[in-house]
Amino acid sequence: MDRVVNLTKRRGLIFPSSEIYGGFRSTWDYGPLGVLLKRNVKDAWWRSMVQLRDDVVGIDAAILMAPRVWEASGHIATFTDPLVDCRSCKERFRADHLPESGACPSCGAKASFTEARQFNLMFKTFVGPVEDDASVAFLRPETAQGIFVNFKNVQTATRRKPPFGIAQVGKSFRNEITPGNFTYRTREFEQMEMEFFVPPADGPKWFEYWVEERFGWYVEHGIPEGKLRIRPHDPAELSHYSTGTSDIEFEYPWGWGELEGVANRTDYDLKQHAEFSGEDLTFFDQEADAHYVPHVIEPAAGADRATLAFLLAAYEEEEVNGEKRILLRLDKRLAPTKVAVLPLSRKETLAPLTAEVAGILRPHFQIDLDDAGSIGRRYRRQDEVGTPYCVTVDFDSLEDRSVTVRERDTMKQDRIPITGLRAYVRDRFES
Ligand code: ATP
Repeated sequence: MDRVVNLTKRRGLIFPSSEIYGGFRSTWDYGPLGVLLKRNVKDAWWRSMVQLRDDVVGIDAAILMAPRVWEASGHIATFTDPLVDCRSCKERFRADHLPESGACPSCGAKASFTEARQFNLMFKTFVGPVEDDASVAFLRPETAQGIFVNFKNVQTATRRKPPFGIAQVGKSFRNEITPGNFTYRTREFEQMEMEFFVPPADGPKWFEYWVEERFGWYVEHGIPEGKLRIRPHDPAELSHYSTGTSDIEFEYPWGWGELEGVANRTDYDLKQHAEFSGEDLTFFDQEADAHYVPHVIEPAAGADRATLAFLLAAYEEEEVNGEKRILLRLDKRLAPTKVAVLPLSRKETLAPLTAEVAGILRPHFQIDLDDAGSIGRRYRRQDEVGTPYCVTVDFDSLEDRSVTVRERDTMKQDRIPITGLRAYVRDRFES
């Protein structure tokens, strides 16, 4: 874990937020390579959840919503974690996260905790110039409710009928009692959620379908199956609205932790919003000539947790010719930089052809042009941030108008004519 955190800082993937002010506990900033990586994770999710399907559409709802939304959803009453204080050192902890030994994780004192009290995780703010009870609003703690309140709008505008889904990627906020483990648990994070509306009788079938589908997505994008598991919630753990939830867990360096939750939310949310808003949120089934409230299957993933899991799973150290090679074996689609363009030396004679090669690739791939230091060192710098291909322009290139393409994992090199370079790289990304 330390090595990955160190790499992310050193190479501009993830920085502590507000670092020059000593940091702001539990928030992180994605740097130049990190923003590309996380965007690729979100794009890969969107591609498989929306673009490649005929039965899911996307939305982008506001973070600030009418406060009634959170009354209807149950968040004001029940979106709480049990909070305890250590009587000895006064640190606060989530009661359900205390070690089995009962010792305080901070000072080690035994069984010295206060009674648990419920702490609401929603961030409160005020909307408009007057800070009174009437202007209280909340930062959304999940993106799902933005989907439920738009169910009718989307269904009418797109003329869909169940089964169909609505997907959304966006920021959520939770005032976590004990954030930590790097970007795993933070107070501001990004979610990738999809609500899939189905005829009530089909709920269980679709629940199974989405658990399998989402598990497969992580495997397909490079996480070894052995580092993933599906953990069904036991009845005591289930949310009040759910008849079934399974977490997809990843084996983080500190143990198994949730990557994504897949829940059968039944008709709970639509019924609540129908009751609180007075709107009819039923679907009219023409064949059966009857109205019904769709049931909802929700795969809810975290973009930050997924990004971290992809990083951890991809990190490798190996020895090559007696030297340590750090490697991020990221799936090509997730790699922040797709192609590095490297002139063999900084000599001016290579500059025009290097610019030409960069110009051919740049409109189609995220490239990095790097001419600083020895070629061996530059290969290593690209390996450790997962760049799948390095294209080297050397002195022979001036004569034969060919370049050397080096592949990250095998370090195999191919000599390719510049005229065929774009197609060569494109074929490899499409395969
Ligand atoms: P946990 O039990 O770890 O607190 P949760 O069950 O409350 O998570 P969900 O409400 O199911 O989480 O949220 C769906 C997804 O959103 C999670 O699987 C996770 O990837 C992400 N997520 C939730 N809370 C956080 C957080 N504080 N920081 C980063 N990601 C989060």
